Amino acid sequence: MNASVPPLNALTAAASARKILQRLHDVMAARTNAQAKLNKVVEIIGEELSSEVCSIYLLREGLLELFATRGLNQDAVHVTKLALGEGLVGTIAQNVETLNLDEAAAHPDYAYRPETGEELFHSFAGVPIVRREKAVGVLAVQHVEPRPYQEVEIEALQTVAMVLAELIANAGLIDIHPGEERRFETGTGVVQGLQLVMGMGRGHAVFHQPRVTIEHTVAEDTEVERQRVISAFSKMREQIDRMTGQAEFGVDGDHKEVLETYKMFAYDEGWARRINEAIDSGLTAEAAIERVQQRTRMRMRQIDDPLLRDRMHDLEDLANRLLRIVSGQLGTAAQSGLRQDTILIARNLGPAELLEYDRRRLKGVILEEGSLTAHVIIVARAMGIPVMGRMRDVRHQLNDGDLILMDVTDNRVVIRPSVSMDEAFSAKLAMTQKKRAGYAAMRDLPAVTRDGIRIELMVNAGLRDDVASVDVMGADGIGLFRTEFQFLVSATLPQRERQQRLYRDVLDAAGNKPVIFRTVDIGGDKALPYLRSEDSDGEENPAMGWRALRLALERDGLMKVQARALLDAAAGRTLYVMFPLISEPWEMEEARKLFDSQRELLAVQKHKLPSAIKYGAMLEVPALAEVLDQLLPMLDFLSIGTNDLTQFLFAADRAHPKLAERYDWLSIAIMRFLDRIVKACVEHKVPVGVCGEMGGRTTEAMALLGLGMRRLSITPASVGPVKAMIRSLELAPLEIEMQRLLTSGVRTVRPALMDWAAEKGVELG
Ligand code: PEP
Ligand code: MG
Repeated sequence: MNASVPPLNALTAAASARKILQRLHDVMAARTNAQAKLNKVVEIIGEELSSEVCSIYLLREGLLELFATRGLNQDAVHVTKLALGEGLVGTIAQNVETLNLDEAAAHPDYAYRPETGEELFHSFAGVPIVRREKAVGVLAVQHVEPRPYQEVEIEALQTVAMVLAELIANAGLIDIHPGEERRFETGTGVVQGLQLVMGMGRGHAVFHQPRVTIEHTVAEDTEVERQRVISAFSKMREQIDRMTGQAEFGVDGDHKEVLETYKMFAYDEGWARRINEAIDSGLTAEAAIERVQQRTRMRMRQIDDPLLRDRMHDLEDLANRLLRIVSGQLGTAAQSGLRQDTILIARNLGPAELLEYDRRRLKGVILEEGSLTAHVIIVARAMGIPVMGRMRDVRHQLNDGDLILMDVTDNRVVIRPSVSMDEAFSAKLAMTQKKRAGYAAMRDLPAVTRDGIRIELMVNAGLRDDVASVDVMGADGIGLFRTEFQFLVSATLPQRERQQRLYRDVLDAAGNKPVIFRTVDIGGDKALPYLRSEDSDGEENPAMGWRALRLALERDGLMKVQARALLDAAAGRTLYVMFPLISEPWEMEEARKLFDSQRELLAVQKHKLPSAIKYGAMLEVPALAEVLDQLLPMLDFLSIGTNDLTQFLFAADRAHPKLAERYDWLSIAIMRFLDRIVKACVEHKVPVGVCGEMGGRTTEAMALLGLGMRRLSITPASVGPVKAMIRSLELAPLEIEMQRLLTSGVRTVRPALMDWAAEKGVELG
């Protein structure tokens, strides 16, 4: 349908609402008090809709209080109060839905209030007064005659309710008890989420995309508003076209489909038409966009389909974009700068968006979505900023500037804490910082046990920035450089030059300390939008699927490019390379051959080559333990990836929240398994270490040393505590104790080891 010719009933609805809004406009401008204004509002609506009763209920102290009425007993004003969910009014507010009934008393939720005298009236229609997607009140009309209200009237009521909502918020219409319109927004709240980046942070809430404040809802000049919307639409469409047309999105894949859908919404004539209709009813451009969005939200709430809900997110994004354009309130909070210690709140973030913030003031991030492997999380981890994810609806529980205490390690976020909570948190934070300062003082001390055994303590890294932590933490090098991170944070496949530059920078920054590069571990949970294949699409078990070396050996073009980038970057130095997820020795052989062939190629081309190449394998697949006699002779070193290994040993998904804590890393099965591998490595004189998360925990690290491991590669934040543990440990008696425990019949060695450590004075942090 042509956008400029709305259907007849829409015209009538618009005309009806417009007339009411015009009259309301004058009332709002008048210099009378809030109560007088509300009294006038119910009169006007009642008259215009020829309704015998019109009432406004507002949420105050958690109850819906009758604030003004035309038609019901005036004595009931400020006396009649309903809880959320109680009676028709309470049901409307609770469900944020409209009710339109020709016989109110027949509704199961009807609650009779004798003081109002409402028994005279049969028909009833009520709409929620909504602010930030929550009901703050109800606008209701009633009739003696039992007849349902027409769609036109309901539309008009909804439009008026929207104007009322903004007035309540902006003009202090409920000046009697401001700020009490929503109880939940003022009280203390303790919430949990998905722990994405560990750590603690204290700061004030700042919304990444500040909410657009709608200052005027009733239009002065409808034609002007219409033009504003038209120009905002064309600007928004330009932006979307630019986004979808970007060269780096040129490859086919899911993301393309998503962007196309986005584009479809942006060009949806129906959406534009509905906004125009709302403008016809007398609303400003901003209010009209919000009005249409509200209606869509209400409709979508009734649909229980996750796919559609995702689409709703797209629409919300677009509507917000349109609102920002039309109101000129552009930009994210990063642009206006952070003025105090901040906890950033967002539905989701891109890595680049996060990097725009001032690191000194940014103390934490809370996301409504987010997952462990999201790019932004990788970046946040590198920046040392704690992140809590999957905190649904958090944006609606918070006000700008609310104080927040984040303790991701304890899975606890306190919103608007009490003074005592704040004090306890600050004390804990100070203690952690003091401990950290103590660890920093150990920076230049070697990781040597009390009986003189030198342990190689290295860090896991993946981004250029991570490299700094080697020095800051006093580590012995990088024991695992996850090269796929560069691929993950990039919108397109990083070309050879880019890869080489990163590897060289990392080697330069590490100085004479070794860096072990792991070839790309792509696939599984680290899927790249620009690198998909039929083999990995729709995998039921991606962690056990077409990933890592399996994928790299097949797509050997990718691996060859990486090999050359590494060989060139390490010219004149020792290059350490290791391959992920080796499952059988021939895979190791193939991977080595591929590297050797590239080295020969570069030699022919007269490139300067590394002075030596050391090849290692990651042991992550249990089957490898049965063929160590075949594998070990091919290796210069072995690195055990306990993250993947333990998930395969126990058949327990490492990302599953319920399984994450079920099997102890110190369980006897894992201990015996690792013991066997260490013994084989000792026999074959192959250095062995652990590079999974396990090594970053002090008790686990102690157990690993007790089994004979001499190299740990851990997350940088753990270097301090683990070094302190090592320096307080006497290793020889621990090795004896570990061997005893392996056959002692315990399920896990944890309690015994903790007792042992306490007795011997080992610092477990
Ligand atoms: C592991 O699996 O233990 C490991 C270190 O590799 P990633 O965590 O990158 O899979
Ligand atoms: Mg792994």
